[in-house]
Amino acid sequence: MQALTHQSIAVNRKPMTFWERLYLINIIKGMMITFSHMFKKQPTIRYPEQKREFSPVFRGLHVLNRDEEGREKCTACGLCAVACPAEAITMEAAERMEGEENLYKEEKYAAKYEINMLRCIFCGLCEEACPKDAIYLSETFAPANYTRKGFIYDKNDLLIPNPITSAAAYEQAKGVQA
Ligand code: SF4
Ligand code: SF4
Repeated sequence: MQALTHQSIAVNRKPMTFWERLYLINIIKGMMITFSHMFKKQPTIRYPEQKREFSPVFRGLHVLNRDEEGREKCTACGLCAVACPAEAITMEAAERMEGEENLYKEEKYAAKYEINMLRCIFCGLCEEACPKDAIYLSETFAPANYTRKGFIYDKNDLLIPNPITSAAAYEQAKGVQA
């Protein structure tokens, strides 16, 4: 038969010896390898009890930012969505009404803001594109979920708690800005 490559190896078709047919030596060898691993440092991390230390440039879950007065910073300009190579961001803009100045920093805000985490590649381009410092990628990662829908994060999932009314929750959610 004609060989397809020049790298083919001839198969050894010699009949097995008595010891080879017993497989005993190979079983002992395998057991020794297993046993030797019992004394090695475990590479696995018992998450969630243990947590891995991330690199300082790690980019995780997005956070929609508020200013020091607790107002949403996002002005729904859409630059993050345009910059996103995975087309993971969708939003709907709305006009700020009179009396809502304490809720939204700019005259326009995102009435709807969604990120599809199954599409996101955590590149951070949305953060770089944002002129309002309204979005950043924190060191938290997206938790596991059982459904596809569960990976579409809406504004409620992304918006950081209000630093005035929920200071403790704000500090916890803020994390370290990557
Ligand atoms: S991190 Fe990258 S892929 Fe994810 S939403 Fe932002 S721009 Fe899109
Ligand atoms: S997060 Fe930033 S870039 Fe994206 S819509 Fe809001 S203000 Fe614009």
